[in-house]
Amino acid sequence: MNTENLKIRKIKGKIYLKTGLHIGGGTEGIEIGGIDNPVIKDPKTGYPYIPGSSLKGKVRSLLELNMDRFDKSEGEPCQCGKADCIICKVFGNTKKESKAGITRAIFRDAFLSNESIEILKKRNLSATEAKYENTINRITGKASNPRQSERVLAGLSFDFEISVRIFKEDGEGDEIIDILKKGLKLLESDALGGSGSRGYGKVEFKDLTLDGNPLS
Ligand SMILES: [Zn+2]
Repeated sequence: MNTENLKIRKIKGKIYLKTGLHIGGGTEGIEIGGIDNPVIKDPKTGYPYIPGSSLKGKVRSLLELNMDRFDKSEGEPCQCGKADCIICKVFGNTKKESKAGITRAIFRDAFLSNESIEILKKRNLSATEAKYENTINRITGKASNPRQSERVLAGLSFDFEISVRIFKEDGEGDEIIDILKKGLKLLESDALGGSGSRGYGKVEFKDLTLDGNPLS
């Protein structure tokens, strides 16, 4: 029994890139002739990372689509704030008189794993590659305006963590953990970041643990 008022449970694991990943960063500070569509990078290390907000937003939207729970008129996220809305409870909502309580899941930024950094150093590789994206002129059939887009190399992995706040009213929090697990599964069959329809951003969650134990 959970007798404390607040308990933190942790889901940890690795996000493994099965295909190249593009999560856009700002273009300011990019020199002329540089890549015009860069990925977001950690200013401290210069390595790409996956913002917790990107992960959270994607998982939330997939769950809402799957559970048919979102604002149908605007296509906006669910903000019903109802006490029994698992989406508003887990991911938060902006409703003033929300009954769903405090947002339960905190998605941390996911940084490049040490194993991946080792591999890059050993092989003297950059973590990203530049890829030309063309649009085909419909009349001439020729590719025009090639744009250089940056993506993180397939095969690299990131350490990720979700801190889950479990309150007394949530019991052991199994319902919350289950919905997050389902969200991660949905993401594996969808895509993270940009250009998913062109094959980017296929990910796999590896070595998942819950409070240090393998997450089944
Ligand atoms: Zn809701």
